[in-house]
Amino acid sequence: MPSLLLFASSFLLLLPGAISSDKEIESDTILLSTGKSKTGRVVYEDDEVVILRNRSKTKEYERAEIDQVDSRVRNLNELLDRLASQGPAIMTNGDALAELAQFAAASRLSGESEALFLAALLANPEQPVALEALGCRERKGSWQYKKGSKWIRTSDLALAVENWKDRWELRSVHYKVESNQPLGQAVESLFDLERFYRAFFEIFQEELHLFEPEESMDFMLHGDNGSYPETTGGRKGWFDSSDLLTHVNATSKPWRDTMFHEATHHMFHMTTVRAKGSKGSIPAWTDEGMAEMLATGLGGEAGFATFDIATPDAKHFRTQTMADKPHDLSRTLNFKADDYRSSVGPALKYAQSYTLVWFVMYGNNGERFPAFMNFMRSAYEGKSSATQFQKDFDIDSKDKFEEEWFEVVSSTSASL
Ligand SMILES: [Zn+2]
Repeated sequence: MPSLLLFASSFLLLLPGAISSDKEIESDTILLSTGKSKTGRVVYEDDEVVILRNRSKTKEYERAEIDQVDSRVRNLNELLDRLASQGPAIMTNGDALAELAQFAAASRLSGESEALFLAALLANPEQPVALEALGCRERKGSWQYKKGSKWIRTSDLALAVENWKDRWELRSVHYKVESNQPLGQAVESLFDLERFYRAFFEIFQEELHLFEPEESMDFMLHGDNGSYPETTGGRKGWFDSSDLLTHVNATSKPWRDTMFHEATHHMFHMTTVRAKGSKGSIPAWTDEGMAEMLATGLGGEAGFATFDIATPDAKHFRTQTMADKPHDLSRTLNFKADDYRSSVGPALKYAQSYTLVWFVMYGNNGERFPAFMNFMRSAYEGKSSATQFQKDFDIDSKDKFEEEWFEVVSSTSASL
């Protein structure tokens, strides 16, 4: 553990309105049992190894040779746990938020720290630690916070942000949130996204040997219709793979499920197409099916998202059982991204992509889960065709596999 003095000094360095620097990112430390320490960025951990990246070099360390690991991702997980243990009630407790903001600052989480200090001022516009940390000043008899080039009263931080140009910009280890939602919602979204990241990595990191993405994922959460760049089909959100941005129209509830649906596409893209040396790509049915697993599995209040993807979603199961002519297995495996945007029955395509992912992960007591992970590994290596699917699932008869999928869908549907 760092000494109290170190805590205090790292805290001061980050004031005010700090954004994460390269130094902060590159300062993860592994303490080896030989007494030597290594710094860089921890990009992967499992029970056996820890992988550290320093500039472009990565090095693997066996658990047995490591005494201690200090990483921002570990610190972030601890922060998320501390927030969760206090529950949503903390959002109205300025002192408790400021305390966690200090913990975040000392843990090299400057973006999270800033967001929590801002939340502290929402709860109590005169919270002294937050006022100081954020460089607020007393002007004309009231406390003011400098947002961009404008000074605003801390008691006005909760007011709606009308113009997109006045949006909030918040950062965390993995995300940047730009939003003209009210500040409280923007803060909650930042933490929700980190909770989503953790859930996704818990499912896939070890199985697929996923490294931390190198780039931050940028989310534009639009609190007004005017600033939301509309695409065809009136979608409430979309991941733009050329600009590496996710847009969400957050003007009317529910929109968090849309955010997590798109966050899944964003994450698959960053860990395949955008990952160094990757040949991988995720087939459309898996991409959409998994996105719906996470979107429909959403629980918990804003800022405290939980994901239960094992519980089947009634709507998708019923859409498939009630369809006159559901798509067969071959067609489903060959859906292209554009198929989900066509005017003909997109709901059934989403439903069947979802039930197929659910079936291979959890159907019949999860007996196909290992095969699904084999297939995902193949996809990450650039092999995701229907033929590869057949190989990884060891399918002799496509008809029999399809029959079993349909049976599980109808029996599950009947029980919902
Ligand atoms: Zn989608």
